[in-house]
Amino acid sequence: MPISPNPAVAPHNPGIGLRIFPDDDVPQDPVDFRLVRVVATLSQPISNVPVYFRNFDLDDPATDPIIDPMGNAGNDNNGTPQAGQLTILNGCGVNQGIIFCPSNASGVAVIEFTVTRQPGDNFAIAAGLNPTEVGAVNVNGIDLTNGSGQTIPTSCTTELVCRSPMLTVWRRLHIEVDSMGESIQNFILGTVTQTVRMRAGQQYTLPIASSQTIEENRFENGRIVINYRDYEIVSNTANTVTIDNPGQSVTIFANTTFQMFDDDDFNDDDGLFPGDGTLDGDAGEDIPEPDISLLTANSDDPNANVFASAYVRPVYDFYDPRDNSFFQANTIGDFETDLRPLFLDWDSRSTNTADEFWSVYLLGSYQHTLIEDNDPSTELATRGIVDAITGDTSGGSDGEGSGALIFKEVLRPREIDDPSPYNNERHVVAHEVGHLFSGQHTDGGLMGSPISSTNFSSNTIRRIRALAHP
Ligand SMILES: [Zn+2]
Repeated sequence: MPISPNPAVAPHNPGIGLRIFPDDDVPQDPVDFRLVRVVATLSQPISNVPVYFRNFDLDDPATDPIIDPMGNAGNDNNGTPQAGQLTILNGCGVNQGIIFCPSNASGVAVIEFTVTRQPGDNFAIAAGLNPTEVGAVNVNGIDLTNGSGQTIPTSCTTELVCRSPMLTVWRRLHIEVDSMGESIQNFILGTVTQTVRMRAGQQYTLPIASSQTIEENRFENGRIVINYRDYEIVSNTANTVTIDNPGQSVTIFANTTFQMFDDDDFNDDDGLFPGDGTLDGDAGEDIPEPDISLLTANSDDPNANVFASAYVRPVYDFYDPRDNSFFQANTIGDFETDLRPLFLDWDSRSTNTADEFWSVYLLGSYQHTLIEDNDPSTELATRGIVDAITGDTSGGSDGEGSGALIFKEVLRPREIDDPSPYNNERHVVAHEVGHLFSGQHTDGGLMGSPISSTNFSSNTIRRIRALAHP
């Protein structure tokens, strides 16, 4: 990515100077994109004039004391070395502790500069012909001042020292998006264990048995099919089911088989019971990918890319056939060992821990554990989860967050009963990716529990900018 103007992102980045993406273009990229060629041009084409260079870590332009606790001072970058590094190339040297490179026949002197890779780190280079003058330069906010305390311009005529524009690091986040395949076997089979005579318009509790474990009240508002007839389920226990019989009188004999569906319907396309009786556990329906509208590709607009406030841009450039090869109605637990086996088609695995190429994995999924899937609707509804919160090793976690599961079934309008404007899929997706960047619920804002803003708090922004890799 070529150096380009640094875009303003309110409220922490006023958009001054230039930006650089020093990360790799592709995994294992042989090119080092941290390298910048700094060019100083004399006012006359004279060769072999030593031009002296110094590099600086300018102040972070953010005024927020959590993001920039150093006030107006420089040396607040998160990368190492904080001010980047000048390279002594062939023909260059050091005099009075200051690096110089000689001008060529066009009066141009060139030096190589290496930036850090932390987003929001910012730099400037000062250049002049007098090592004492260059040695007297100081940082003042995002300005450089000369030995007399005057601000040094970026475009010079007769000044003794000149400087480069501010150069700010941005990073790309390569997001791989997959989803589960078509729903299968999202129901329970069993038998009615005693003969029951049912009259029309009454409720009955049937004793039942199944080889599968039946969670209490999971099937409320669901559908049971017995002898090709549909009944609405009022409630259930591990070995009974209470149903309405709105139709004619009927006898159900002992050992009659049943098929029982809960109210799962991720896209709300089935009729509400007692409607057309189409609740079917979403059989044969493909689970879609997560809503990434707050992680818009190549966006610098914080309303479309919540990471723009931390100098990070999402991209979607993995070769990936959008795998969707399996379905699992419920996860089996909260731990990385429960969740990572579901990352079956994780093509970006090789860059999971790369500092120079940031990647995360998003998997459109169905429901979290049986006790957190909103069936019955009185229980928890976990809307998304990460394999691990990056940097958080509590509970025996390795702290190496890699991917997030987004649970489509509990994110549909009929299941979300909280009217908060932040309680929806796009905010959940952004929140979970925030965890992969070491965001914690105590950060508040978009990372809060519940989510209380579309934006990352200053605490989370600081974490993102200091993290080696998500
Ligand atoms: Zn969370």
